[in-house]
Amino acid sequence: MALLEVKNLKVDYPVRGSWLAKRKFLHAVDDVSFTVDHGETVGLVGESGCGKSSIAKALVRLETPASGNIHIAGEDISLLKGRALRKARKKFQMVFQDPYGSLNPRLSIQSTLDEVLSLHTALSKTERFVRMQELMSLVGLDPGQLGRYPHEFSGGQRQRIGIARALAAEPDLLIADEPVSALDVSVQASIINLLKELQKTTRIGLLFIAHDLAVVEHISDRILVMYLGRVVESAKAEELCSRPRHPYSAALLSAVPTLEKRSAGRIKLSGDVPSPLDPPGGCAFHPRCPYATEKCRSCRPELREIAPGHYTACFHASENGIFSCEKI
Ligand code: SF4
Repeated sequence: MALLEVKNLKVDYPVRGSWLAKRKFLHAVDDVSFTVDHGETVGLVGESGCGKSSIAKALVRLETPASGNIHIAGEDISLLKGRALRKARKKFQMVFQDPYGSLNPRLSIQSTLDEVLSLHTALSKTERFVRMQELMSLVGLDPGQLGRYPHEFSGGQRQRIGIARALAAEPDLLIADEPVSALDVSVQASIINLLKELQKTTRIGLLFIAHDLAVVEHISDRILVMYLGRVVESAKAEELCSRPRHPYSAALLSAVPTLEKRSAGRIKLSGDVPSPLDPPGGCAFHPRCPYATEKCRSCRPELREIAPGHYTACFHASENGIFSCEKI
């Protein structure tokens, strides 16, 4: 049984119009399914507005799914409420994008960690203090700094505190939503290495969400690529990054600077991501796709297995891929 199993998840947001107009919905996440196993890191990648943060919010139940199921360690949490939801939250914790805004400036680090430990464990006051010191060491911070406040730490250190807070509940699953995008490039690598190390030692499942494929590539076992609320490609990280079968993944990858030349060459996408309020018909990527045909404009491709464990939603992808520099 997978640690996290997401089935046909849909997340909608109501959109205000005039009071006479029919109520409209923005379909932020549209029929998304995937799994994360114990000890596995799954990367979720896509441009801003593709629905990846809405998935994160639905997983930690900051949003209620419009439909679909979310099973964590065998328990369906998609419709839990109140006490049952608070109890289930011990199993899944989130690391937020903003290390500046996600910590309460009025609470010392000790109080921040103690809040979580008091809520999710039965440890005594002394045991909790010992655990806080362990958590500080685990994320590479000096346990002697427990009495300090968030403003006394750098951005990277604050993100380490955010990770310690998430680990305090001893969750099975960590959901990291753009955990390094607010940090300097030099600090990003240290946070990614920390997550990799922690994941190895704790066998925790990790869903790592980012807009930057270069970041996701280095930490993930498997990658899901999203476009306008849907998964358009999924495969093992190495397979997807060496042989992308969807033109969108190929374009994202070709923008990642590497020492070796990518097989797809540089693919420049024209235009912006269309509004999810008025998505294009057929394949949602067709207005930006250099391979679009008449069929792409009228029919929507579903995910299909194109090679073992490699799924793509493109009519014209073949087992050997369709992409070459000459075609662009
Ligand atoms: Fe491009 Fe057509 Fe494939 Fe969509 S289905 S990605 S428009 S080739």
